[in-house]
Amino acid sequence: MPRSMWGKSIALCALFLAGCKTVPPPQQLKNTSHTFASVVVDAGHGGRDSGAYRRSGPPEKVVTLDVATRLSRKLRDSQFNVVMTRTGDVFIPLDTRVDIENSTPNSIFVSIHFNDSRRRGVKGFETYYHSPYAAELAQNIQNRLCSLKGAVNRGVHTADFRVVRKALYPAVLVECGYLSNRSEGREARNGEYRELLADKIAQAIVEQRHGLGAYQAPATATAPAVVNQEPQPQQQKRKPVLAPPGEGPGLAPPTLSGH
Ligand SMILES: [Zn+2]
Repeated sequence: MPRSMWGKSIALCALFLAGCKTVPPPQQLKNTSHTFASVVVDAGHGGRDSGAYRRSGPPEKVVTLDVATRLSRKLRDSQFNVVMTRTGDVFIPLDTRVDIENSTPNSIFVSIHFNDSRRRGVKGFETYYHSPYAAELAQNIQNRLCSLKGAVNRGVHTADFRVVRKALYPAVLVECGYLSNRSEGREARNGEYRELLADKIAQAIVEQRHGLGAYQAPATATAPAVVNQEPQPQQQKRKPVLAPPGEGPGLAPPTLSGH
């Protein structure tokens, strides 16, 4: 999410929320934060929605898919059922992502993003949630990411991003650093670093479910990256649903469409 859009996005979100009746009432929220058997892994953006973009590296949609793919592999190795909202370079509407998460029983939802700012010096990790049942998971992921060397902690926050706001199960959105920052942008282009990101997030999820010390880094830790400037072959079995007018990226402000 571009930081520069923050103020504008808050105003637009407020407008949107004013007419929104789709936020689950609190009694419908499910607390599966310690019992979940499935993890819905959401690679942010995709297809015509590139997310944050810097000429110096691949767009956000490419690095989110790579981290999400690595994370999914680690979670499967840790015996979780994993559902990815996309496995290729395809556009998936936000409401479709929500439908996937809400139709996966006994799950949690983890959305992977990278950040962007006009202020090149801004850097660090942020994790967002909406349901109070996701607060602990968000904090655990943030703590693990911030254990990386040189990490900057920009905190855990509540947010009205659609994929967390409309989730019935505990849902978090992780901003894995700023593509606009020289050092974090360089790190994001590095497959070994993305492996570390995925490993820290996987560790937090496994420990959230099974307790501290339960995570064992899988032997597949050095599997090849999928990052590439070229569009990936279509691997998505689920047929994406086209967004209604005004909902798709390019039609709405990037901050709203992006999350
Ligand atoms: Zn994003």
